[in-house]
Amino acid sequence: MIHSGRVALVTGANKGIGLQIARQLGEAGVGVVIGARDPSRGAAAAEALAAEGLKVQSVALDVTDPANIEAVAKIIDAEHGKLDILVNNAGIVDGRDGPPSLAAADAARRVMETNFIGALSVTQAMLPLLRRSKAARIVNLSSSLGSLTLNGDPNSPYYSARLLGYNASKAALNMLTVQLAAELRDTPIVVNSVSPGYVKTDLTGGGGFMTPEEGARLPVAYALLGEDAASGRFVEPGGETPW
Ligand code: NDP
Repeated sequence: MIHSGRVALVTGANKGIGLQIARQLGEAGVGVVIGARDPSRGAAAAEALAAEGLKVQSVALDVTDPANIEAVAKIIDAEHGKLDILVNNAGIVDGRDGPPSLAAADAARRVMETNFIGALSVTQAMLPLLRRSKAARIVNLSSSLGSLTLNGDPNSPYYSARLLGYNASKAALNMLTVQLAAELRDTPIVVNSVSPGYVKTDLTGGGGFMTPEEGARLPVAYALLGEDAASGRFVEPGGETPW
């Protein structure tokens, strides 16, 4: 991909919300690097978007594999010399997850490894490239299920949504957002947690009120925030989400 404008990396972009984020960023004129843990699925996604005239390329990227993450940072450095947008979208649920009394510890560990440690590792590896952008944006795909406030509020629909490992992974991801935004507050790098809404994808087993195309809109809006953008926020389609 030869592209002189802004460059984005979207993790887990071969399907679901991530694929639509890649498409909408491409439509906004951004060059998009599609991260996919299965290279053949990533290549197929990139081929489909390139056929629509978008500037895209795919890279093999498993966010739980540190060597793989470093290799992707080297590719982006060599081909673009910087990164303007990082969307930490890759995420999983685990069927053995559940309420605290039942959740399999191993499921919680696996979900944490992908949803939190994965995002942390990718962010750390990409930071040197993001520092070379005039106005970098990091978007962490969070969930209202990660809100400690809503989980503890008997009047909230999230009160009984007890998926301990998944919810904790998004609460941890939110801590990354808050701490990184504070650490980078004197830089042009902005970082926010965005809950896409309840979106029909493989992750939800087809449940949800929104299409992936609709679910991509808020993350994309935060990826494209202009000057003086707010940092360290947690938002959902209806507005601010309580931490
Ligand atoms: P999907 O299951 O459709 O897509 C998840 C993507 O993440 C896939 O591309 C998957 O790859 C990828 N992925 C999983 N593990 C890894 C890994 N180790 N390394 C790299 N990529 C990986 O889910 P959604 O599109 O629904 O979810 C996207 C994000 O949005 C997630 O972070 C999710 O938690 C979040 N979210 C979703 C909501 C919803 O209602 N759908 C609500 C709130 C948040 P593969 O195809 O190989 O499995």
